[in-house]
Amino acid sequence: MVSNLVKNLNPSKTLALTEKISRLKGQGREILAFNLGEPDFNTPVSVIEAAEKAMRCGHTKYTSVAGISELRTEICRKLSEDNNLEYSPEQICVSTGAKQALVNSAQAVCNPGDEVIIFTPCWVSYVEIVKIAGGIPVLVKASEENGFQPSRKDLVKAVTPASKAIIINSPNNPTGAIYSESTIRMIAETAEKYGLVMISDEIYEKLIYTDERPFSPASVSEYAMDNTITINGFSKAYAMTGWRIGYTAAPKELADGIVSLQSHTTSNANTISQYAAIAALKECSADIERMKTAFNERRLYLFNRLKSMSRIECVESRGAFYLMPNVSGYYGSRTPSGDIIGNSNGFCDYMLSEASIALVPGEAFESPENVRISYAASLENLKKGMDAFEQALLNIK
Ligand code: PMP
Ligand code: GLU
Repeated sequence: MVSNLVKNLNPSKTLALTEKISRLKGQGREILAFNLGEPDFNTPVSVIEAAEKAMRCGHTKYTSVAGISELRTEICRKLSEDNNLEYSPEQICVSTGAKQALVNSAQAVCNPGDEVIIFTPCWVSYVEIVKIAGGIPVLVKASEENGFQPSRKDLVKAVTPASKAIIINSPNNPTGAIYSESTIRMIAETAEKYGLVMISDEIYEKLIYTDERPFSPASVSEYAMDNTITINGFSKAYAMTGWRIGYTAAPKELADGIVSLQSHTTSNANTISQYAAIAALKECSADIERMKTAFNERRLYLFNRLKSMSRIECVESRGAFYLMPNVSGYYGSRTPSGDIIGNSNGFCDYMLSEASIALVPGEAFESPENVRISYAASLENLKKGMDAFEQALLNIK
């Protein structure tokens, strides 16, 4: 009865874990949740007010599939100012979250059997999104020793005659790494050399905790501009996960294809959220700064705690809201109840049962030696969580 496509699909491990944690909490378990990639702040007030106003003004109907022109114009202004990218509104398609923007992109780019290069550790959905589009995911490790930056050698080794595209995600989920300008240039040059499309997911772009500036692959060269889909969204920087707004900016032919696809799936993204997104782009820079300051304080706290723990290695990442410590120093060791920790699934199961803290196993991100800790959680909870984590480590023999 069920299609091969669905049979071969793995459900989102991050979302499945979130549901499991909610269920346990519903049963009265107190759990410190560091598993979800979702800001713990409410959406800025000016965004909420813009949504209220939109509803009162009757903006409750369908819009054009690609989104209202005022929002697309505002997105073009943002891409020009922040990213040095000159797009016109006809090249923008507003979607139901960056997730739909990614699904649209993969479907617009892939023919059956086309290979899409994904750097690992990678966000859970990339592999499945490529499979949904009929493509073949090709994983290229970005090594921990290299601060999770991909290398030219590894990238070039993965290119074959079937290669079609490369997915880039910087700042990165799950590692928090920011690809350096030279890494981005190296990827763009490789894409040009082999005629590949780049799909650049820039959703964490505002969450950079140093004075580095985001650097968009499309800005590298004329080839890059003509062969890159730039993706962004409002979920992370503006604490708008529930509003479901993201977008693609693409060469016109791909942009038209994306709009055509979306016209047969969801039509326009939520109308009220589109009006709210205009307010986010125009009025929320102070809100972003406020949330960023809090995230950074937590990042430093978490990193310093992890650094001091034995048999834990951690890259000091400077973006998004994740750290990805290597916990493999504990593999093969015995928990107080006598179980051997075999991998990061076992490590996270142990942390959940022993310390009541929820982490995502690296297996979800094609990185079995690590676990992902999200610091989109209050400093108070992070302190409690790290105390419990450290104690649970001490109990491992
Ligand atoms: N890309 C990355 C790297 C993410 O972490 C997320 C978070 N779910 C998304 C895309 C999708 O975000 P959304 O659909 O909420 O805009
Ligand atoms: N991107 C977030 C995460 O990685 C939200 C969950 C999801 O969409 O997978 O946790």
